[in-house]
Amino acid sequence: MSFEKLGLIKPLLGAIKELGYQHPTTIQKRAIPLVLAKSDIFATAQTGTGKTAAFALPILQRLRKTEATEDRAVKAVILSPTRELSIQIYEDISNYAKHMKVECAVLVGGKDIVSQQKAMKKGVDIIIATPGRFLEHIENGLKINSVEVLVLDEADRMLDMGFTKDIRKIHPLLPKKHQTLLFSATYSDKVRKLSKLVLRSPAFLETSKKNSTVDTINQIAYMVDTTRKAELLAYIIGSRNFPQVLVFTRTKVSANELFEELKKDGLKCGLLHGDISQAKRLKTLNEFKEMKVRVLVATDIASRGLDIEELPFVINYELPSVPEDYVHRVGRTGRAGRHGEAITLLDIYEKYDVRDIERVIGQKIPQETVEGFEPDPTIRRKDQEDLKLKSEHKKPQKKKARHFSKNTSGVETKKTRTSKKRRTTKRD
Ligand code: AMP
Repeated sequence: MSFEKLGLIKPLLGAIKELGYQHPTTIQKRAIPLVLAKSDIFATAQTGTGKTAAFALPILQRLRKTEATEDRAVKAVILSPTRELSIQIYEDISNYAKHMKVECAVLVGGKDIVSQQKAMKKGVDIIIATPGRFLEHIENGLKINSVEVLVLDEADRMLDMGFTKDIRKIHPLLPKKHQTLLFSATYSDKVRKLSKLVLRSPAFLETSKKNSTVDTINQIAYMVDTTRKAELLAYIIGSRNFPQVLVFTRTKVSANELFEELKKDGLKCGLLHGDISQAKRLKTLNEFKEMKVRVLVATDIASRGLDIEELPFVINYELPSVPEDYVHRVGRTGRAGRHGEAITLLDIYEKYDVRDIERVIGQKIPQETVEGFEPDPTIRRKDQEDLKLKSEHKKPQKKKARHFSKNTSGVETKKTRTSKKRRTTKRD
C-alpha cells in the first residue's frame, strides 16, 4: 500500500517523499480514506503511530478544494492538551503543507492574546490550540462559523488535564455539520462519554493496543445468487466448522428472515437488531460470548459498540448501506494481531457497490465462487433484457432498474447513473 493509492494529491505526495516516508502507517492507511470521505472517527492511537499525518494529510487535502476562494476563514481546528504538542503538530503540518498555500496558527498559553490575534489578522485556515486558550479567543471574537473539521488529539490527556468543560463549551459553538476526529491513546470511560457527545456515527479505529487493521484480516467475497445466500452461509459455517461467527445483514427484515432460515438448518442462532429490547440483546450477546449461540445475526446499528474480543470470523451476508460500516464490521475480527477472516456474500446486485467499500479500505477484496454455488449467468442476462426493454419503452420499472449501477462492460451510462442515485436515496 502506497500513499498514492490512498488518493492523496501531488503537493502532499511531494512533501511526504521529501520527508522520507515510504509507506503509510496502519493508522494512516485506515484514517486517511475515512477523513477524506468526511466520516467522523474515533481512533485509539498512541504517539509514534503516525497519527498526526493520519489526520493532517487528509485535512490539508480537503482544504485545498477551498483554497481558490479568497476567504481565509478557519476551516480546521486541532485541539491538543499541551503547548509542546500543539507546536509539534504545527511543525508537522507546516512540513506536509510546504507545497500548498495554507496558513496555520498556534494558540497556546504563554503569549498574550492580542499578539496572537494580530498574527491572525490576514486570516488562517488551520488553528492548533489548547482548549482553554481557544475558548478565550472565541470569547474575544474569533470567528469559527466556517469550521469543517475538529480534531481532538490525545483526548484522554485533555480530559485528565481538566479540559472537559472547555471542550463541552466549544463543541456547540461550532457549525452543526462539522466533522470530528477523536484520537486517544486509551479507551477510558471519560473518553467514551465525550465521544458520545461529539461524534456522529464514527468509524472506530483501534491501532494502539489491539493493533487491528483491515490489512491483517483475510478478506474474501463469494459471488452467489441472492436466493442461495442463506444456503451458502449454512454451508460455509458447516463445512469449515466455524465455532462462532458474527453475521451482518443490512436490514432488520433480512436479519429476521435469515435467523429463521438458519434455525431451520439446525444452527444455534442469536439475533440483534434495533427492534429487540436492550435486555434481550445483552442476553443474546452473553450467550454468544459463552458459545451457547454459534451464529449471531446482527444489523450494523445493533452491533455498534459490541464488546466481543478476538472474533475469528465475520460474515457479511449483505453489504452495509454505508461503506464505512464495512470497516466497523470486519474490524471485529483479527484483533490483537490474531488471524481473522471476513467473508462477504456478494450477489449480482451488490457487485458494483463493493467498489465503494474498496475505495474506503484502499484495497481490493478478492472475488471467488464456491463450487456448487456459482451464480446463474442467465439472471444477469434476464435483468439486462429488462433494462433494455425499459430504455426502449421508457417505462419505469423501478424494481429491476435499482439493481444496476453499471452495464456489463463496466461503463457507467447516464441512465444507470440515475438509477444508482435513486437507489442511494431509497436506502438512506
Ligand atoms: P506521530 O505519531 O504523529 O507522533 O508520528 C511519529 C513520528 O513518525 C513522527 O516523527 C513522524 O514524522 C513519523 N512518521 C509519520 N508517518 C510516517 C510514515 N508513514 N513513515 C515514516 N515516518 C512517519
